[in-house]
Amino acid sequence: MPLKTGDEYLESLRPLKLKAHILGRKASPDDHNLVKLSRQAVAFTYDAAHDSATRDLFCVESSLCKDEVNRFTHLHTSVDDLVNKVKMQRYCGVGTGCCFQRCVGLDAANAIFSTTFECDRKYGTSYHARFKDYWAWIQQDDLVVDGAMTDPKGDRSKRPNEQADPDLFLRIKERKPDGIVIQGAKLHQTGMLNSHEILVMPTLTLRPGEEDWSVCCAVPTNATGLRYIYGRQASDTRKLEGYPMDVGNTVFGGQEVMTVFEDVFVPNERVFLNGEVDFSGVMVERFASYHRQSYGGCKVGVGDVLIGATALIARMNGVAQASHIKDKIVEMIHLNETLYACGMACSAGGYATPAGNYQVDLLLANVCKLNVTRFPFEIARLATDVAGGLLGTMPSAADLDDPVAGPYIRKYLIANPEYDVVDRMKVLRLIENLTAGAGAVGYLIESMHGAGPPTAQRIMIGRQAGIEDKIARVKALLEIGAK
Ligand code: SF4
Ligand code: FE
Repeated sequence: MPLKTGDEYLESLRPLKLKAHILGRKASPDDHNLVKLSRQAVAFTYDAAHDSATRDLFCVESSLCKDEVNRFTHLHTSVDDLVNKVKMQRYCGVGTGCCFQRCVGLDAANAIFSTTFECDRKYGTSYHARFKDYWAWIQQDDLVVDGAMTDPKGDRSKRPNEQADPDLFLRIKERKPDGIVIQGAKLHQTGMLNSHEILVMPTLTLRPGEEDWSVCCAVPTNATGLRYIYGRQASDTRKLEGYPMDVGNTVFGGQEVMTVFEDVFVPNERVFLNGEVDFSGVMVERFASYHRQSYGGCKVGVGDVLIGATALIARMNGVAQASHIKDKIVEMIHLNETLYACGMACSAGGYATPAGNYQVDLLLANVCKLNVTRFPFEIARLATDVAGGLLGTMPSAADLDDPVAGPYIRKYLIANPEYDVVDRMKVLRLIENLTAGAGAVGYLIESMHGAGPPTAQRIMIGRQAGIEDKIARVKALLEIGAK
């Protein structure tokens, strides 16, 4: 099947007839003004596969079906694949200025592919072959898959089997001859209402006695028993007001939902882990590392947009030549390119797994993400500094149409006469979107918590750093004997 265009993707969502709870009402996400921009961001990833300028980056031969597939469904077969994934994500980030949502399924698939192979080898299960069949279908139909990892987790001091409510970690409620029944919830689900399928994964390393929580499986987004509760973003209802300029990013946006699984039946052919607790941690670690690599691309692309907007507003304000402004913009570039260097480095250090796909360097992927928990905040701080206080006090687009207020706005918000007042307002709204508005969910909050909070990266860095080896080398250098 040929790769879908953006429009074909958008049409492919309609037959799913998804329903969600949005701002207190049950509503279809199709054509919903709160959802529309987020769907357009995903559509961008489809159109890029048809654009002659980006075709080579987005189209790649599948290792499973040998067809040409979109790189957003590709199982990485080389270091080059890992590097190109990050390049593709930067391209999408700078093209949309937001989270384009399609990477989570890609990262989940690569983690599940290698983990199921190793699980089968140890236990004689048949998860890997099942997963390959499933994923070949995803590739051929060019579908969007949500990777669902984050459980609500309840009382953080307690294990899954110690919680007052066992559903606080998504679990296998019942095992039947033909499949399993799962129950629980997944939070912060990026783009799930824009997806065709969901890949459920465990949220943490599980222990013996916690087999019911060690589950990986696939369900369609329109499966019986699923409920979606739409996540709010700062200033989100501006999308409903009819004045696009106030939204900031008028073309694209991100999306997160809370997803409830109520007695969802999963047939055996879609179950990829069913109680093997010793593979839960491997799956979590690999998925998290791929997603930590991803941020070295997508956040960098969004950073490019914020840097471009900051440099433009400096010109519009008439301060572009001031040395302290130039210096701040260089600082923003330095921070952003450092993130990209990390994304490239963990890709370049990738290696083949026993299953044959490529895994990123775990240490460097975690260094990448730990920097992502900091640098976008500093980039946003510098953007706020350069943009000026009008960023937080500017009148609405509706006031421009007011016969009394409008002329005053045009008279008093003029700065560098080479630029139109309304264009200046548009740029300020875009900066506001990314630093304090709906776009800050993806650019800032998700930079902190997406793919795990900073402490998770610190733990991984501590584990991966080979500290004993470093100590041994110092001992050897100084001829210190064993103690
Ligand atoms: Fe992709 Fe970045 Fe969005 Fe995650 S936050 S889905 S890596 S664009
Ligand atoms: Fe994310």
